[in-house]
Amino acid sequence: MVYKKGFDLIKAYPTEFSEDIVSVRYSGRTEDFSFSFPEKKVEHIVINLCPTEPWALPHWAILKDNTTNFLHRLEKVRAEYFPDSRCCIVVEHREDDLINDLIRFGKKHEWLHTYSMKPVYPYDAPVLILKNVLGLKITFGENPIEHGVLLLEAQSITGIYEHYILKRENEVRLVSISGTGLNENRILKIRPGTPIETVLKKYIRIDIKYRVFINGPLNGTEVEDLTQAIDWSVKSIVVMEERDYKTPFHYIRAKELRFTTSLMGELRQCVYCNFCDDICPVDLEPALYWHCYSRSEKQKARIYALDKCIECGLCSFVCPSKLELLQVIKECKSASK
Ligand code: SF4
Ligand code: SF4
Repeated sequence: MVYKKGFDLIKAYPTEFSEDIVSVRYSGRTEDFSFSFPEKKVEHIVINLCPTEPWALPHWAILKDNTTNFLHRLEKVRAEYFPDSRCCIVVEHREDDLINDLIRFGKKHEWLHTYSMKPVYPYDAPVLILKNVLGLKITFGENPIEHGVLLLEAQSITGIYEHYILKRENEVRLVSISGTGLNENRILKIRPGTPIETVLKKYIRIDIKYRVFINGPLNGTEVEDLTQAIDWSVKSIVVMEERDYKTPFHYIRAKELRFTTSLMGELRQCVYCNFCDDICPVDLEPALYWHCYSRSEKQKARIYALDKCIECGLCSFVCPSKLELLQVIKECKSASK
């Protein structure tokens, strides 16, 4: 298998969601929506409707088959809070109907632009999307607002519109749940503040061991404590069955989500296959970080352009030796601060 700067995860791991969106009931304390309006002037707003991960919330759930309604909300939010900004919506290149709707709207509203791209992971990461859409170079972790750019999540448009303009309460957030540890994949309406265990209890498979990840298994966060509440940053939850046997060359088995790593004792030596070099979207050689780490020379990793790493996790994902490269990269970054 040849990897070329990124990976089409959606093609490799197609994930279907039922079109019915289900509300999760919870009577405990919940969290109101809030948005930190930037103090700096916003010159550009970029909204991504082209997720590159199969477990991400699909855009049709956000648009609810009513693009015009979404655009009118955006228009009102922009007029109220970011009046001089240009706005770019990023969409998947095969979404002809959506692209046509956006172009039609953009003809009457010169502030709106449409950018289409292939849904290859991780080209919706801030560093890459801003470089491609605006030609803007930011470093990983830098807030684009320093350059007058607001990267706005599509659901935040609805949040700002409902909370600040309509002054509604009891807002909900859409969250996708998927993975081999569930009976079915779903899109749920959740009031932030709801514990993850309440969200998952109807869907999780019984009698299996599983791992739970917020915002994706590649570079999201693993949840240890399921009483933890959903907050306004949660977009997806992935639950993966944790098997107790080894899966050699997991990455060529494209039918299932198999992102389990050295937890099952599969850690081996680097075999110099170069898969990690080939897939890295920012042209790094992740194995070099591993070698620095394994020689206890974490500080030396910075020699190899460590700062350019956008922490997408693809190198860990493809490594046949199951080396935790992303974890190693994070440790090398902290060691050389
Ligand atoms: S985590 Fe960093 S080094 Fe690894 S593939 Fe992504 S950008 Fe490259
Ligand atoms: S770190 Fe993993 S993917 Fe990279 S060269 Fe070594 S074995 Fe291959």
